[in-house]
Amino acid sequence: MGLFDQPDYVNAVAAFDTLLEPLVLLNQIQRIELEFGRKHTMERWGPRTLDLDILLFGDLKLNSELLTVPHSGIKVREFVLYPLAEIAPDLYLPDGSAIIDLVAVTDRRGLTTIE
Ligand code: ATP
Ligand code: CA
Ligand code: CA
Repeated sequence: MGLFDQPDYVNAVAAFDTLLEPLVLLNQIQRIELEFGRKHTMERWGPRTLDLDILLFGDLKLNSELLTVPHSGIKVREFVLYPLAEIAPDLYLPDGSAIIDLVAVTDRRGLTTIE
């Protein structure tokens, strides 16, 4: 994604329950990114110490200035679809598309699994 001349990086997807409102959750993940040493100067899609994105928030569809849910890249990024399908193979996105169908039409490109 973005700069191709950059070191390999690790992607992972986690699912959890939260009582936080979506924008409060965004605020919290940004605080965690800063705790992990992320600098504001770090280029978008370039190397970062940590990038936490909200992929889905239940069945919510939201398109605001600060937050778009589902994440705008969710259906086309192999490094999102494959790990997401690993933890939620039966998942449907809010628009009704099945995660397994999206994975089936998405090439792994350089993606490898870390055992
Ligand atoms: P991408 O969002 O394409 O993966 P990125 O993660 O590199 O790119 P950032 O620079 O980390 O982009 O974030 C830019 C802004 O995107 C954030 O400040 C946040 O307000 C906004 N944003 C919109 N939707 C989301 C989302 N679902 N999860 C996280 N941030 C989001
Ligand atoms: Ca991102
Ligand atoms: Ca981000």
